[in-house]
Amino acid sequence: MNLAEDSALVLFSGGQDSATCLAWALDRFKHVETIGFDYRQRHLVELSCRDNILETLAQDFPQWAGRIHDSHTIDLGLLGEISDAALTRDVAIRMSENNLPNTFVPGRNILFLTIAACVAYRRGIKHIVGGMCETDYSGYPDCRDDTIKALQAALNLGMDTRFVLHTPLMWIDKQRTWELAENLGGKKLVEMIVEQSHSCYQGDRTQRHSWGYGCGACPACQLRADGFTRYQSGLKSKT
Ligand code: ZN
Repeated sequence: MNLAEDSALVLFSGGQDSATCLAWALDRFKHVETIGFDYRQRHLVELSCRDNILETLAQDFPQWAGRIHDSHTIDLGLLGEISDAALTRDVAIRMSENNLPNTFVPGRNILFLTIAACVAYRRGIKHIVGGMCETDYSGYPDCRDDTIKALQAALNLGMDTRFVLHTPLMWIDKQRTWELAENLGGKKLVEMIVEQSHSCYQGDRTQRHSWGYGCGACPACQLRADGFTRYQSGLKSKT
């Protein structure tokens, strides 16, 4: 299987992390496609943010415009059917006995990366980019670097190919994720991610904060807000 060296497929949900990963990929690869998953998540609004972000990137970042190609949306309603997590059920977000928040959808990232690899195979794309992160996360075991490395080996063996799985956020926290966005696309990119990306697990886009839209109380909002506050104070301390 011949895979194009300068091509990437980005797991793009419309959240802060994946929007930053998309910019990271656009900065490095000449041909970038995106893939998003509808698994009946409560925050489905995230997916509707994708088109706006892709449009804005094409309009406001001429250096990247010609690199943005197909956007794939995959229906994974199956995942909502077989999982019992708070992201796919109307139950309160809390910690479970195993120290994982009940927002954990078992196997989600394994499934996402596997499906992404199937699409990448069909499209002849070598690089697969995801926003998994071990540093500032909720303890999801399928975000761990070891999980991703094992999966890369399994996918390459199972498909007899040489995909490279990239996780540019793996070792950075949310503050540095905002900084990475600024390094890639300046304040303009940070502002676009604040305004157009969506992280809130409750799918709330009625309340606008300095860090963007969200309920302000769920774990995703708290991580995003804390990181943004530290990012802003970090900027101030440097000047
Ligand atoms: Zn929220």
